[in-house]
Amino acid sequence: MPSVTDRVQRLAPSATLVVMKRAAELRAQGKDLVDFGIGEPDFPTPEHVKRAGWEAIASDFTKYTPAGGIPELKEAVSLYYEREYEASFDPQSEVIITCGSKHALYEIAMVLFEPGDEVLLPTPYWVTYPAQIQLAGARLVPLEAREEAGFALTASEVEGALTPRTKAIILNFPNNPSGATIAPSELRAIVELARARDFYVISDECYDRFVYEEPPLSASRFGKENVVVTGSCSKTYAMTGWRIGWACGPSEVIKAMEKVQSQSTSNPTSIAQKAAVAALTGDQACVHEMIQEYRKRRDLMVQGLNEIPGVRCPVPKGAFYAFPNVTGVLEQRGMNGCAELATHLVEEVGVVTVPGAAFGREGHLRFSYATARRRIEEGLERLRKALGGGSC
Ligand code: PLP
Repeated sequence: MPSVTDRVQRLAPSATLVVMKRAAELRAQGKDLVDFGIGEPDFPTPEHVKRAGWEAIASDFTKYTPAGGIPELKEAVSLYYEREYEASFDPQSEVIITCGSKHALYEIAMVLFEPGDEVLLPTPYWVTYPAQIQLAGARLVPLEAREEAGFALTASEVEGALTPRTKAIILNFPNNPSGATIAPSELRAIVELARARDFYVISDECYDRFVYEEPPLSASRFGKENVVVTGSCSKTYAMTGWRIGWACGPSEVIKAMEKVQSQSTSNPTSIAQKAAVAALTGDQACVHEMIQEYRKRRDLMVQGLNEIPGVRCPVPKGAFYAFPNVTGVLEQRGMNGCAELATHLVEEVGVVTVPGAAFGREGHLRFSYATARRRIEEGLERLRKALGGGSC
């Protein structure tokens, strides 16, 4: 049988899947697991957003739309950046609607990266970027964000990693998995550096609203030249399954993405686009309620983790993940790495986490706190019993 391409054979399967697959098997056997692995909101999609989806179906808004998205939604996205970040994007030429922001990032990789290009990727990183860089044939250059600084990146660290081949840096704040944000002054300096040294800042801002102490931030605040921002309804409005995201940036990049989209998925789902308009333009109280709840969960999670011997967890500033250093636990138990610990936790302790190696940082685990507070308490209790001293 003719084989699948080298390009795809070289892709590593997602490291997160190993633990997830095992968790699914154990669940099927009836085991009660506390799931800190999942990276999506546990809240339902808000009622008014669902209603907009139903109304779209009822009014037969169920056909192809323009490949780059309906004008109404592009307008809503453009207004969002103007309102929140005083950024101005022309809805027709500088905004594209995509099937989730993962899709936007994939298209960006396809239109901007090629063999010979270097893409700076701060670690820890979201698991998908390396695969997208690899698929585009570019070279990933990891840039270690300092744990002592709570994984917050600085412009001088970026500058130190630039070479004549640097085509782009991918930023993600609040960060998955660390929850780190970035200081506005550092972000501004990185955007200025990109202009001066001619590379792109690709800024994945899908958690932009989920910040707990600081105001939301976007690279779009500091200019559009050499900057492409991506955003999403997935997390902000608990709409992961609707698959609506977007990118805003220079018209040449957006036009090129639209070309790729028109030859691949065509448009994002028509009815989901209508629901997204309702999400972006409707009452935002639902978002504030979710943020308040996530903040309580964060405090509970971080305090509980820091009480466990061998675990050191900086306070995440945003998103809904904690990313503690667990090297103390690995040493105590003579374990080889965080994947072994994650496997032990799911098999013996009934707690699902994701090994930090999947995000480019060994010695860590990612805990998602997008789960009810009573389950967080239950999970922490299990961890305290298992890791709170003695051998496991
Ligand atoms: N970027 C980051 C950092 C994420 O964590 C995710 C999802 O987990 C995405 C992008 C993609 O989200 P979506 O495609 O649902 O917009």
